[in-house]
Amino acid sequence: MIQQRVAAWQSRDWHAELAAAVKDPHELAALLDLPVAALGIAEAANTQFPLRVPRPYIARMRRGDPRDPLLLQVLPTHAEMIATPGYGADPLAEHAANPVPGLIHKYFGRVLLILSPACAIHCRYCFRRHFDYAGNTPGRARWQEVLDYIRRDDSITEVIYSGGDPLAAGDSLLAWLTEQLAAIPHLTRLRVHTRLPVVIPARIDAECLAWLAGTRLQTSLVLHVNHANELDADVAAAVGLLRAAGITVLNQSVLLAGVNDCAERLTQLSEQLFSAGILPYYLHLLDRVQGAAHFAVDQARAITLHRAMLARLPGYLVPRLVEEVPALPYKRPIN
Ligand SMILES: *Cc1c(COP(=O)(O)O)cnc(C)c1O
Ligand code: SF4
Repeated sequence: MIQQRVAAWQSRDWHAELAAAVKDPHELAALLDLPVAALGIAEAANTQFPLRVPRPYIARMRRGDPRDPLLLQVLPTHAEMIATPGYGADPLAEHAANPVPGLIHKYFGRVLLILSPACAIHCRYCFRRHFDYAGNTPGRARWQEVLDYIRRDDSITEVIYSGGDPLAAGDSLLAWLTEQLAAIPHLTRLRVHTRLPVVIPARIDAECLAWLAGTRLQTSLVLHVNHANELDADVAAAVGLLRAAGITVLNQSVLLAGVNDCAERLTQLSEQLFSAGILPYYLHLLDRVQGAAHFAVDQARAITLHRAMLARLPGYLVPRLVEEVPALPYKRPIN
């Protein structure tokens, strides 16, 4: 089954699928059998953070439904342009934890590397929508500074590839960097935070698996799926390849009004994740980033939803409900 799916995407090139992502609202509307006016796209929002959605992801949206939970995650709307008090451009104060360009060191033992400014998909609620990527994506020479920082601090045991989306970077950079990191004795773990295998499963190809599975570092991959409809047979096949290579596959979701703020949907998401070989890890409260306030679910409601999950699911399928708080050395558990 996996082999068949995978054989089908050997003929597909992820670079081409990335380049073919839909950026034109009219094209998106046509693909969904909707009049463009039904999408309610705001030009100002589209200019600030442009529409971008890969075709394999569009294929999982319901035709003719302007409230489709996958569509809502990518549509630039008027609501984004409403300034909301308490929402900022750098809600996590990552600026303060950015000692070297390209590296964020906020939590004990773990550093996050900004591998690529780009993402395959533009998620409207993303806390990185205002991030200074231009000043934070090192060229290969600048990576030496990052590597030196990690070499100097032997309390660091885990490196997290992040972005943007780290898998939007090419495999030659990823393979080179992974090799450099594996040569640092105090590092034991490598983690990749990515949404790319969800939106373009063909990204998990032989070149990618070569460095991911070939390193001495113990490797995990944390996907980002918010709704069960985001999972299909191709995503499951990509995850199957990762697992066959000995990689632990986890998921983090964001609690989003109108998308997944429903006990039924969250329960179904956990069950479908597990069917696809993925363990739920975190369920995040929305980061208070300017332009995303209309996705917010208040804390009391989040706790109610989380308790409903606890009451219905085995413990290992209940993600940790957390909130990111600047200055705290971990993600704050809620409930
Ligand atoms: C979330 C995050 C991590 C990883 O935290 P875990 O609890 O280990 O998943 C590391 N660094 C930063 C800056 C983060 O936001
Ligand atoms: S960083 Fe993740 S959440 Fe943000 S736009 Fe990229 S894929 Fe979406």
